[in-house]
Amino acid sequence: MLKDYLVKESSFNRLTFQTDARLAPHTTFGIGGLADYLVTPHNEEAFLSLVTLLRENEIRFGVFGNGSNLLFDDKGFRGVVILTKGIRGVEFQDTLVKVSCGVPLISLSIQAARHSLSGLEFACGIPGTVGGAIFMNAGAHGGAMSDIVLSSRYLDVQGNVLEITQHDFAYRHSVYQDTDRIILSCCLGLSYGTESEIRAKMEENKQKRTMTQPVNDKSAGSVFRRTEGVIPAALIDRAGLKGLSVCGASVSEKHAGFIVNRGDATACDVLSLIELIKNRIDSVYGVQLIPEIRYIPER
Ligand SMILES: Cc1cc2nc3c(=O)[nH]c(=O)nc-3n(C[C@H](O)[C@H](O)[C@H](O)COP(=O)(O)OP(=O)(O)OC[C@H]3O[C@@H](n4cnc5c(N)ncnc54)[C@H](O)[C@@H]3O)c2cc1C
Repeated sequence: MLKDYLVKESSFNRLTFQTDARLAPHTTFGIGGLADYLVTPHNEEAFLSLVTLLRENEIRFGVFGNGSNLLFDDKGFRGVVILTKGIRGVEFQDTLVKVSCGVPLISLSIQAARHSLSGLEFACGIPGTVGGAIFMNAGAHGGAMSDIVLSSRYLDVQGNVLEITQHDFAYRHSVYQDTDRIILSCCLGLSYGTESEIRAKMEENKQKRTMTQPVNDKSAGSVFRRTEGVIPAALIDRAGLKGLSVCGASVSEKHAGFIVNRGDATACDVLSLIELIKNRIDSVYGVQLIPEIRYIPER
């Protein structure tokens, strides 16, 4: 039934899909086994119809963006992995921007600069989609999504499309982490600036990132959350754990907060390394590190 539906929808160019699809290429970690189905809807309407069908038939699914904060299991995902990357509307209205969930944050920040709009300079090196960035309240260089998101539209579990202006934003947290709501789009509030100054700020942010982070390695960004007074990377560095490895997964030599995939790392390697780091930091400093990256189990 699901396969027939997907074949029909893809023949109308409303989505693309693969069966037994490798997840690794769809994550920045380059890790993950096979998903039963991997579906990329091409617009919001196709996305909504697909989710409705899956819910009506009680078929397990997950909604993901660019896979830049994820660790899929080595056994993959039983059910349907939906990637929002194909849902990509952007509409500028003075200082307001209406953006669909699948728009890449990096290209959005470049478009905003072209419109002489300031507010997204912090986001120019964050490799996620707008949906993933709202979900995580992504941030950098003193800015975060919480500074610019005025409202967001979402699909609730009953199938209603609703809008909110209160997101319960906190450090790498939004209301969406506490619910099964699916983010569809948002409205951002930016401010007019000078294009050259906006671009200069973006360039400065990019250079800082290139200097300090392993941007050319496969990773999922910072592995652990910052908490009150605790900077995980500083503790990991001080504990001498840079370079610590479990098979293909290593603590980055460049930034101790990152775990990098040296080519053949498995999810199991990464999870073992995370446990090793947590135990070492707990025994040395009495601090319990909390992962920021999201592990997605097979079932
Ligand atoms: C090199 C590198 C640098 C990074 N630097 C930063 C940084 O500076 N600051 C920062 O905050 N993060 C950073 N990250 C982490 C990551 O880019 C962000 O967390 C980003 O917001 C994740 O977006 P995504 O689209 O990749 O989400 P995914 O990783 O695909 O998903 C993350 C979570 O969001 C959920 N989600 C995604 N889309 C939706 C949707 N439409 N509706 C409901 N839920 C959804 C998923 O289910 C999942 O639980 C970095 C990562 C890398 C690899």
